[in-house]
Amino acid sequence: MKCRQVLCVHKNDQRGLPHCTCDCFVRQSSLKVEKHEMKYDSLNRYLQDAFGEKLYKIAINAGFTCPNRDGTLGTRGCIFCSGSGSGDFAEASSLSVTEQIEKGKARVEKKFRGSRYIAYFQAFTNTYAPVSRLRELFTEAIHHPDIAVLSVATRPDCLPDEVVALLAELNRVKPVWVELGLQTIHEKTAEYIRRGYSLPVYDDAVMRLKTAGLSVITHVILGLPGETPEMMKATVRHVVQISETYDRKEAVDRGGTDRGYRRVKCQKTNPDNSGKTEVQRRSIYTPDGIKLQLLHVLEGTDLARAYRNGEFEVMTLDQYTKLVCECLALLPEGFVVHRITGDGPKRLLIAPQWSADKKRVLNSLNAAIRAYEP
Ligand code: SF4
Repeated sequence: MKCRQVLCVHKNDQRGLPHCTCDCFVRQSSLKVEKHEMKYDSLNRYLQDAFGEKLYKIAINAGFTCPNRDGTLGTRGCIFCSGSGSGDFAEASSLSVTEQIEKGKARVEKKFRGSRYIAYFQAFTNTYAPVSRLRELFTEAIHHPDIAVLSVATRPDCLPDEVVALLAELNRVKPVWVELGLQTIHEKTAEYIRRGYSLPVYDDAVMRLKTAGLSVITHVILGLPGETPEMMKATVRHVVQISETYDRKEAVDRGGTDRGYRRVKCQKTNPDNSGKTEVQRRSIYTPDGIKLQLLHVLEGTDLARAYRNGEFEVMTLDQYTKLVCECLALLPEGFVVHRITGDGPKRLLIAPQWSADKKRVLNSLNAAIRAYEP
């Protein structure tokens, strides 16, 4: 069922966001049904809601490196990271940003029915370069007529104020998302995976990005060695509750005022699917979305060696499915779930082998999520 109004009334504002002047009654009804069935705010649903269509992500490799690889913090990278710096699906860095966007568009031409794309700077650390270089690359991407969103994957310790200011400036042209690789809140695990920064660095980056008006998406890995399901859920809880730390600080700093909050309208998902609207008080410092990633053991990584030495076991599909359901139940309404599994390159995948059958995994996850009762 489609909104009768959306086709004729929605117009894009200067940032490319659909501006709606109608009540979208029919469309809202269809979203309510989907939300009730899915029980979480998926990225597709969010895109449909915010942009009026699904956007396709084009992965861009801008030829950056990472402090965990260039010798600044280390040379071997995070323990799970393949040599491509998580950019296994990106185009060659020798191509310009525009060429990579055009190649990405051509690749999905037959299967993608939408008209706009997300320029996803994915490989390595995408804010780890002089600001002038970042400005050049990001400006080229954001001004491409078919790009609706600029998404930048990076580390929280590579976000100096001048980079945040640049991203905030670009955010006035089109929406900018900043994707932060947190993976875990547990310092012992962070040390084991050689992440290279501590939790307060992440918390501080989120606060500065949100203060600058940017959208933040946090990456979490489920199944890291030594972590129990409770520890992984604690990480998810921290991601959605980080704001509380700063809310309290803000309240004290500002003499106990209520600043630091915004009011958001939420469609409550009631068991009777009545879809009542309520107003929730939400902190401006809460990230906007989360990516739940299954830990992949990839060929050529130090994690692969540890796995072959029997130092840890990977999760079964049943364990992962249960955990994802429990994690989703922790998220507040409106918190966008960008991913519920991972996309490891099959040619490098050692374990878990069940994750190679993406369709089966997603079917099994979606069925479990629909049936889940906390
Ligand atoms: S996962 Fe990211 S931060 Fe870690 S080594 Fe790879 S590119 Fe660097």
